[in-house]
Amino acid sequence: MCELFDIVVIGGGTAGVVAALQTARAGMRTLLVEKNALPGGTMTAGGIAFPGLFYAWRHQVIAGIGWELVTEATAESGMPLPDFSTQIGMKNHSKYQVRLNPVVYSALCDEKMIAAGVNILYHTMVAEVKVVSGIVELRLCTREGLCTVHARRVIDCTGDASVCSLAGYEVIHPAECQPATLCCCLSGYDYNQLDENGLRSAIDRAVAAGELRYTDLGWNKNGSALQFIRKNGDNANHIFPTLPPHTAAGRSALEIEARRSLLRAWRFLRKQPGMEKLTIGFGAFECGVRESAVIRGETTVTANDYISGRKYPDALCNSFYPIDLHEDSHGVVPKPLEEGTVPQVPFGALVPHGSEYFLAAGRCISSDRLANSALRVQATSMATAQAAGAAAVASIQSEKAVYLTPLRKIRDILRKHGAILPENAETHQ
Ligand SMILES: Cc1cc2nc3c(=O)[nH]c(=O)nc-3n(C[C@H](O)[C@H](O)[C@H](O)COP(=O)(O)OP(=O)(O)OC[C@H]3O[C@@H](n4cnc5c(N)ncnc54)[C@H](O)[C@@H]3O)c2cc1C
Repeated sequence: MCELFDIVVIGGGTAGVVAALQTARAGMRTLLVEKNALPGGTMTAGGIAFPGLFYAWRHQVIAGIGWELVTEATAESGMPLPDFSTQIGMKNHSKYQVRLNPVVYSALCDEKMIAAGVNILYHTMVAEVKVVSGIVELRLCTREGLCTVHARRVIDCTGDASVCSLAGYEVIHPAECQPATLCCCLSGYDYNQLDENGLRSAIDRAVAAGELRYTDLGWNKNGSALQFIRKNGDNANHIFPTLPPHTAAGRSALEIEARRSLLRAWRFLRKQPGMEKLTIGFGAFECGVRESAVIRGETTVTANDYISGRKYPDALCNSFYPIDLHEDSHGVVPKPLEEGTVPQVPFGALVPHGSEYFLAAGRCISSDRLANSALRVQATSMATAQAAGAAAVASIQSEKAVYLTPLRKIRDILRKHGAILPENAETHQ
């Protein structure tokens, strides 16, 4: 393959599928490159199939292509949407995430991308990126060896900002990243029949004996919560990266430790009264990574910007989530936003500093650690992806470098494809 595409999207996860759909539906020849066997990324391979948050204070703040995928997937699998009319505060924010069936979601993503004309390469990664005479040259590592494709614009949806890094843009890797989680689904016991105190004592003893870690069964490093047992596995363990999780060695060490943790939990739990018939019905095949890298963008969203709901002249989408940094000792203590606050994402956060051909979307957009702990969630990742897709299209159509793309053109495309623009976007063109 030695082809020219208008737009190549690298990473077919939460963000990448939406970005590719946006560019293809706007008439661009699009290629999606994904290292796994399926689309959806953290939502499917990582088993975190509960996107949030599309509504804020009872009003929808994120819609468009992500919302279309999510609502159609829930309808197809007979799963209900939350009652958003009751969403008054942020305290119960997880109640307003949409529970999805990841298998149906990934199949639907395939169907929609094929219908839109997206060219898809699974089992493929990027090995090299360079710009030659105004065209991006991407060296891909496919199953049958290396091949080269060309693109007018590239959208980095790898979660790790890998493409921006390969292209030579500044990428920030936090010295210490939040813990990851290996999602699974346990069954074969009735939580209400278990002896909670007996279990707590058994956990303390097993931890003291070195057979178990508290974080195998909950988010808190210092005490034995019963989170993992109560939630039937789900998103309830913490795996601490020992090496940078954006690297192959770091990710390998993380995956191995995640499975080791699950095995410790499994061996311990099967010995507990009432849990002799424990089974694991589903285990995500990738450990879910919360944090690994962000680009240094034209604009960096800070925690203060996020919490105060800063209104950006170049805002392209909304975001809504509490600050949600998972830490060592306290697990996580979400910090809700004040009543009425709806944070915004500026165009500048999607553009590597000075970039002519590259954009980023999803969890690696330009933000400080605390802001990123909220911006990284799935509804926002989808909204940033649609915005990046629209910006890539507008940049080609207007024959301008990415960072000079006219906002009016980007916003026109977003409106046409059902996205919700931030309230002040109408006044700043
Ligand atoms: C444990 C955990 C719990 C979470 N809980 C929630 C929650 O409750 N609600 C919520 O909304 N969000 C939650 N999140 C956050 C959210 O799931 C992620 O931040 C979001 O899905 C990131 O989307 P993304 O598209 O940036 O990355 P991903 O969905 O991870 O997609 C990245 C894709 O790029 C591919 N890729 C990577 N590198 C390459 C490469 N070099 N070449 C080709 N392909 C590549 C990957 O295989 C993957 O498919 C959670 C995250 C984790 C890890």
